[in-house]
Amino acid sequence: MKRARLAHLPSWICSRCRSFSSSSTLNASSNIPNAPARTRFAPSPTGYLHLGSLRTALFNYLLAKRTNGQFLLRIEDTDQKRTIPGAEQQLYNDLQWAGLNWDEGPNVGGPYGPYRQSERTALYRSHAHDLISNGHAYRCFCSPERLDTLARHRNESGLPPGYDRQCADLSAEESDERAANGEAHVVRLKIEQYPMYNDLVYGKTGHNRPVNKLDLIDRVYDDPILLKSDGHPTYHLANVVDDHCMKITHVIRGTEWMPSTPMHVALYKAFKWTPPRFGHVPLLVDHDRQKLSKRNADIDLSSFRDKQGIFPATLVNFAALLGWSHTRKSDVLSLEQLEQIFTLKITKGNTVVSPEKLWFLQKAHAQRFATTGGPQFDEMVARACRAVKESYSADQLNPILQSRSLEAYIGPLLRADAKSYTTAQEFVQRNSTFFTTTLKRPPYSPASSSNEKPSPAGEQTQTQTHTVPISALHTAAAALSFVPESHWNVETHRYNISSYDGSDTVIPTSRSEHSSSSDPGVSPEKGKIAADKTFKKELYHYLRWALSASAPGPGIPETMEILGRVETVRRLREAKELTASMAGRPGQNQAKDGKEEDRSWMGSLASRS
Ligand code: GLU
Repeated sequence: MKRARLAHLPSWICSRCRSFSSSSTLNASSNIPNAPARTRFAPSPTGYLHLGSLRTALFNYLLAKRTNGQFLLRIEDTDQKRTIPGAEQQLYNDLQWAGLNWDEGPNVGGPYGPYRQSERTALYRSHAHDLISNGHAYRCFCSPERLDTLARHRNESGLPPGYDRQCADLSAEESDERAANGEAHVVRLKIEQYPMYNDLVYGKTGHNRPVNKLDLIDRVYDDPILLKSDGHPTYHLANVVDDHCMKITHVIRGTEWMPSTPMHVALYKAFKWTPPRFGHVPLLVDHDRQKLSKRNADIDLSSFRDKQGIFPATLVNFAALLGWSHTRKSDVLSLEQLEQIFTLKITKGNTVVSPEKLWFLQKAHAQRFATTGGPQFDEMVARACRAVKESYSADQLNPILQSRSLEAYIGPLLRADAKSYTTAQEFVQRNSTFFTTTLKRPPYSPASSSNEKPSPAGEQTQTQTHTVPISALHTAAAALSFVPESHWNVETHRYNISSYDGSDTVIPTSRSEHSSSSDPGVSPEKGKIAADKTFKKELYHYLRWALSASAPGPGIPETMEILGRVETVRRLREAKELTASMAGRPGQNQAKDGKEEDRSWMGSLASRS
């Protein structure tokens, strides 16, 4: 039964796949098609997904999603010799890991299947025969030896390769008879001219030149092979037939396929089909403008995922920015956001892949997950737990964990540290003080000593001497420990530290800007504020040394909450013992006025302790 031509669309009936294809226009302002796009990712199972192919898949996926269209997966396995066992399954896993689920394709099916080319051979053969019937293709019975001799002869004469069309003029009867007798042959496309086409990225493309080259010896032609002598299609035939039969409207692929596109357009013409819109995305290069290879960054996706611990969201975001530009303020975009804002604003120039950007995005997405929680954050926690267990034994961890699970302990630490997160291993290494009760603290020196600047002659010139006695820091630290378990949280610690008044313990020094109210030039109020600032600075410095051996990381209130009351108190006591001898030094042995510590700042907590 013939299918009715739709009046409102320019459409072409294909007798074989009973399909039609329609041209589509681009919305000039947003650079996306007006109608739903049908796109496809068409990998050959000859290797694993790498950064470049992930980007190709992603752009096709995003174009389909942005236009409410469909994204197809098609396995181009016509070259069985190059197929790697297991690669197809790995492609599925990689795409699914990245969140690029296909609407039609292997495993999910669809109306235009099968979606594996090795299962569509009959379709390609019949289409090749259509072209033989309408004169756009012909059988070529030339033996490999003849072709080899021709190629060698041309090569030796310094001529470009080509076929002399010896078989192009065989009569239909002779051609049919020889084929029916089982004589080996290929089918060639008879091509006179490669048409120009309008690339979505590169604009008008192609040279529109006749393909026959008149040289001094003879005329030769490209006449590419469509069907091989084993009856299997070449990439070109299968690709074009499938894109048409699967109603693909837009083909986004790497520039390495650009030289083939004029031939594909010629094939569409020969079939009297409207070609899809083609957009070629530029090459990925490293900082030295070298094409990406395994040596630089174009490594298997599994390496980003398994070895480097990159999140799918990070890699997808990173791949999206490789050649595509947007108008959002931030480059940090989730897949859902990308689906909403994607356009075909793709650069023509080679795209430099920057590892720094990858890590920037990784930190940004870590922060996003830490804020929103959910499965991605759970996965971060699980990874970090695995990394902790690789480095620390249960005996080391148990005293810190007390009755908590490792997951419950890691969660808050990850939340507090997310802005610096790159990988689970690096996270564990950076926060090593959270996983052991044996801290290796450097010898304690007050924060003020780091203000000592060398004079031009190299001598030390003190601009500010120690102003807070260690005993005052011991007292403050002890006071912070009075908080009961029930109130042991970030808010309480933050409030307590900020409201602790240690200003009257600060000993004025001759050069100090924060000298006490006794300085005739400074008002008592200003002096107190300055003293409080000095005290807080010393207190934070001391607490960081006491609680995390001065390692940078989560803030002090967060650290206290994460470590828990028992371990915090233990560390503070240990720190006090380690600095006890400093209390004997002049100016450091006691609070200025030797007063009993004032616990009134703790409010109701003081009475409960
Ligand atoms: N099978 C080709 C590849 O492996 C597909 C090229 C195309 O998208 O047309 O990349």
